[in-house]
Amino acid sequence: MGGPFEPSAGAGHMRTLLARMVHRLMGRSYLYQYFTNVTWETCPRCLSEHGRIAAHRSSFRTLEDGCPREILAFPVRELAWHKEMRQRMARVASLEEARRDLMEEATALLRTDPEAALERLEQAGRVDVYLPELERLAEEHGGFLRKNPELRARLRALLVERWREKFAFPRYERLPERMRMQHETWGVEKIREWFGP
Ligand SMILES: [Zn+2]
Repeated sequence: MGGPFEPSAGAGHMRTLLARMVHRLMGRSYLYQYFTNVTWETCPRCLSEHGRIAAHRSSFRTLEDGCPREILAFPVRELAWHKEMRQRMARVASLEEARRDLMEEATALLRTDPEAALERLEQAGRVDVYLPELERLAEEHGGFLRKNPELRARLRALLVERWREKFAFPRYERLPERMRMQHETWGVEKIREWFGP
């Protein structure tokens, strides 16, 4: 990263420097950043807080919402890096919001416009796939899907493919190989059971 007087530093960098100076003048050497685990069940409030930076730990209210959370203290001099992280985290959170909208639309459209529903499931699945949501989808549309075996087969193939892809994402690569494969295989079995012939 460039020094403070680098000509290419830009307005964003200047703002960060100013923010750092203000924090120092106010006698703060530490700032706080909020982390949650973004999944299908993270509450909207935690999604919007994900990565937010504050001057006081107490500005993050403790909620009994079941979401995992961690409030990380970091030195003011690392502010620029944490602000970049905030941007990436906010992007993850907004992708999750978009994914939920797509899932909702797909569920609503499945009977009336299956092609549009499959398209949305495909897009949602490129963000992430969560089995509890698929189980709910199967419960809601089970009867309809049993009467439409061709659609059910396409849906099953699409979901299995997206589910398998999930395990190639970087965060799953950290799981031990055997555990990763077990989880992947178990999920495929579940999808086949719920959307099976
Ligand atoms: Zn929450």
